[in-house]
Amino acid sequence: MPKCVYCNKEIGDGPALHLDHDGGFCCGEDCKREATRYLATEKKYKHWYFLLLIGALMAWCVSFFFGIQQYVGGALAVLCGLVTILSPFVPQMMEDILGIARGQRVCIYVGALLVVTGILSVVK
Ligand SMILES: [Zn+2]
Repeated sequence: MPKCVYCNKEIGDGPALHLDHDGGFCCGEDCKREATRYLATEKKYKHWYFLLLIGALMAWCVSFFFGIQQYVGGALAVLCGLVTILSPFVPQMMEDILGIARGQRVCIYVGALLVVTGILSVVK
């Protein structure tokens, strides 16, 4: 049974709305509107978001050579955490399992965890 890509509810016998560009199904007009907006934003900004994360990871690797990985790692964890909280993007895997709406909420928790971890790693 298809699931709504936005709220992750199973689409029963009701009319399933098909998203453009083969984006999946939605259970109703509201979800379709939100999902369409999400997918449009995602298309525009997602590569910048991943470039930032890859850049952060590389900076962290490089910092090992200078023995400052604790500080750089902490700062980057805070940065990545903030980006994860502020950006509306949900990793594809989470999107499939939880749907966009719940995935966004989980991202906020993960981001907050990263920020806390980053701060603790520098303070210690
Ligand atoms: Zn829905």
